[in-house]
Amino acid sequence: MQEPAGGSGALVVVATPIGNLEDLSPRARAVLESAHAIYCEDTRRTRVLLSAFGLSPRGRLRSLREHNEMAQSAEVIELIAAGSVVALASDAGTPGISDPGRRVVAAVAEAGLVVTTTPGPSAVVAALSVSGLETERFVMEGFVPRRAGERRSRFADWAREPRTIVFYESPQRLVATLAELAALYGDRRVVVARELTKLHEELVRGTLAEVAGHWAEGEVRGEVVVVLAGAEPTELPASVIREALEAHLGTGASVRDAVGAVASELGVAHRIAYDVALEIRSERGA
Ligand code: SAM
Repeated sequence: MQEPAGGSGALVVVATPIGNLEDLSPRARAVLESAHAIYCEDTRRTRVLLSAFGLSPRGRLRSLREHNEMAQSAEVIELIAAGSVVALASDAGTPGISDPGRRVVAAVAEAGLVVTTTPGPSAVVAALSVSGLETERFVMEGFVPRRAGERRSRFADWAREPRTIVFYESPQRLVATLAELAALYGDRRVVVARELTKLHEELVRGTLAEVAGHWAEGEVRGEVVVVLAGAEPTELPASVIREALEAHLGTGASVRDAVGAVASELGVAHRIAYDVALEIRSERGA
């Protein structure tokens, strides 16, 4: 592998396949083989990956899970400070993305040590890239909360989210979640990416109700990512635009600045925000 600058130790965040093993990059293979230690979510899963490529790792495989991440961070820092290269891998995809790893990365960076990556597969980016939905601005929401109250508040936030929303959902709850969203947002567009890079890869596109209906007859199998179109500017109730404008005007901003800020925060057209601002101004008799 390419040694980090100075030839000293480093943490290497290694992306691994989300289905098709051929997606493990040559650089990732080299790091996994030559690293002094590999911290991984499930040592058995990583061992299977290594043996699929006939790789004999030089370093030991150690487990890194949510519950031991902080404790393992101290060990990782010690190894790197002593000049070791430590690989960080999760079961599939990119570590730290709805997977353990973020805290170790933060701790190593905080200790002033080198963090680098062999980038590669991640279900969120893979799904977004094939969705055909707006990709310029998007938001990743991780797994949808299961508790009713948290779900309600999350879905209320999305009602006025102008960016494309990407989230993970379990196959068992997918249809119910899509139906719940259809009841809230009407015919907003959605793409469900199922089993990406695997034999039964499937992309289902349509309105929320259409896509939920796709599985009306049977169970959903495998892993899924949901890519949901953001709210259209016109979907935003005037009260939301008004509230945001009033907040800006309240800080002494000019109408022009308040309109500009609200247009970019809410993704609403300048013209629409300007009309509401004029209403506010005339009510105030300004
Ligand atoms: N860190 C991983 C990444 O970067 O892809 C994501 C880990 S998260 C625990 C696992 C979730 O990713 C699954 O529940 C599913 O929603 C999604 N996922 C993983 N592989 C997938 C695939 N091949 N097709 C569709 N979704 C996938």
